[in-house]
This record gives sequence, structure tokens and C-alpha cells, in this order.
Amino acid sequence: MVTTRFLLIRILPSSVWDSMQKQTVAFSKDSSNLFFHILTKCNLSCTHCYINKDQHGANTLDMETINAWLTLFSTHAPRTNVIFLGGEPTLHPDLPQAVQAANRLGFKSITIDTNGYLFHNILDKITPNDIDFLSFSLDGATPETNDAIRGKGCYDQVMAGLKTAVAKNFSCSMIYTVSDKNIHELERMPDLVSRLGLKRFFIQVIGIRGKSSKTDGRLQVSKETWLSIIPRVAETIAGQGIIVTYPKVFLNTNDIFQCAGHVADNYFIFPNGRVYQCPICEDFPLHSYEIRHNKRIATPKINEKDLFGLTIPEGCVMNKMIQPQNLSYNSAGDPEYQIACCMLKEEISL
Ligand code: SF4
Ligand code: SF4
Repeated sequence: MVTTRFLLIRILPSSVWDSMQKQTVAFSKDSSNLFFHILTKCNLSCTHCYINKDQHGANTLDMETINAWLTLFSTHAPRTNVIFLGGEPTLHPDLPQAVQAANRLGFKSITIDTNGYLFHNILDKITPNDIDFLSFSLDGATPETNDAIRGKGCYDQVMAGLKTAVAKNFSCSMIYTVSDKNIHELERMPDLVSRLGLKRFFIQVIGIRGKSSKTDGRLQVSKETWLSIIPRVAETIAGQGIIVTYPKVFLNTNDIFQCAGHVADNYFIFPNGRVYQCPICEDFPLHSYEIRHNKRIATPKINEKDLFGLTIPEGCVMNKMIQPQNLSYNSAGDPEYQIACCMLKEEISL
């Protein structure tokens, strides 16, 4: 049997291998993430879109509200990363002002996640100093695979947008959401990204929510497939000097399960005022908080916080309830492994 390490040694010079750093990013109350959906409108209609307008509405927040909601979550701004999301956040005409507001409040970092269309000439209205990362979503190494998921013409648009952004000195990253539909092309990504000028590469795992929850057939890849491809591709891309992050998904026997809802401060804010702490809950009215009249109000029981405390042998309770396809049991009915919190990440860099 050929081991992963053997394959990597063949791909990377030994000096590169020796200097590779790999770590599980521990949850910490000292680092918080604010995933701020400033609208749900989007120009695309991806087959796996997690936005659920029945749950999250169709509002586009006005600038006054964006400012008020950023202020609400700015108590620990110097240790809080803001990620502007949609829908497509560049469809919001006031995104540059939202970025300035986040800067004024002193947030630790600011990222814009985009599908690549870069509306309203956003790159002419902000500078590389205004944001830390511009993150492009691409779900295939070829137009055929990416566009089958994200829409015709999307691949070319991402490539063009990325090229313009890199030429203007923006720090760019890429997000590849792995599913059964595109894992076969992940191994072609190291070659592709070597030409793009990326600083970071994020591998995501498909979540069974939004449109994915209505898809017939299995979208998630098996544990064997995940472990045989993801770490190896991540290490190959990291060997090019790009920091790679991917979700752990399957815990090893000596890993300790932790729920980020308990031990970290992550907030997923939607434009109808719902605030979740667990993204897997987003298809349900289980949010921990609601923003009403620009005040954050704790929601009554039962909400996601009541579920975070449940201890089950499978690990993450929401995975068991919502995406049990991830799980596997032995003949005695015991889980063969634990599922990690979806926010537990591995990070690899040189
Ligand atoms: S770009 Fe994002 S928000 Fe838009 S349809 Fe695709 S997944 Fe949904
Ligand atoms: S994914 Fe699971 S472990 Fe992570 S916050 Fe949600 S319920 Fe907790």
C-alpha cells in the first residue's frame, strides 16, 4: 500500500515536506467570527446554495442597520473577524461603506466572500488596505464541473475577477466546497491554483441545508474518500506557499469532541435578524438570538443552545439529526467514529 506521505515525498522536495506546519485550529473564546449576511439576494442559483429565504428572508439591510448591527457585535472587535456574505455581498451598493464601518469599529480582520462577479465596481471603491481577504468561490477545476454546480459562465467570471483583484494587490483566497459532484476534480486544483496568486485556499464540506437538503441522492463523500484525498491535496497546495484550511469532519480515536457552540464565539447573522451559532441549524428556527430594534435578544427555549449540551457517542448532535449520512455504525450498533464540529479546522502552511 502506498502511504500519503510517500506520495507527497514524490510530489514535493524533502525540504518542503520538512518545513510543512500542520495544526488543528483549537476553538477559543479569544477569537470570534462574525459571518454577516447583509442580503440574501444573489445573481446565481447554485445547486447547493445554503441560503433559505423561507428562514432568512429577502431583506437587503440598509447602511444604518449594517452599522448598528456591526456595533452590536463590536464589544470584542479587536479579536473578531468579520466576513461579509450574501447572497452575493457585492450586489449590495453600500458594501464599501460597510467595510469602512467595520474598519472604524476596529475589527480584527475583514473578508468579503464573493461568487466572482464583483458588482458595483467594488474593486474601484475599496483598496487592498481596507480588507484582509477577498475570497472567491470555485467548485470545480474545469468550467464543466464548476458551472454545472454554480451556473454557466461562472468559472470564467471567477478567473477574470481573481485576475483583476490580484493585479490590484488584493489578498485573495478561494473556497472549494467539496461534494460528490466535484471531489473528482480536487486533485487538479494544485495545478490550477499555482497560476492564480492566491494567499489562502479553503476546502469546505457540503452542508445538508438549503437546496442541498432537497437534492435526491447523496452529496457528501464517504470517510474513506475524504481521508484519501483531502489531506493529500491540502498538503500539495500548501507546498506552494498557500495556507490551506479544511474541516476535520472525522475525529480520530484520541481526539476530544468539542462543540463550538459551547467553547467559541461564532455568529451567523441573517438579514431578517436571526443570529445562529451553529451553521447546521440554519434551516430551522433554532437561532440563539434575534436582533430586534437593533438590540440582540436571546430567543426562548428550545433553541440551538439547548442542543449544544447534548452528549452523544456520535459527537456532533446536529450532524446526527440533520446529516446522519456522515455516520457509520458497527454490528453492535456503536458509532465507528465521532463526527467533529463542522467548525473544527486543520490548517497547513509552509
Ligand atoms: S453564489 Fe452563494 S448565495 Fe449565490 S446562489 Fe451560489 S451559494 Fe447561493
Ligand atoms: S456543528 Fe455540531 S458541534 Fe459544531 S456548533 Fe453545531 S452542533 Fe455544535
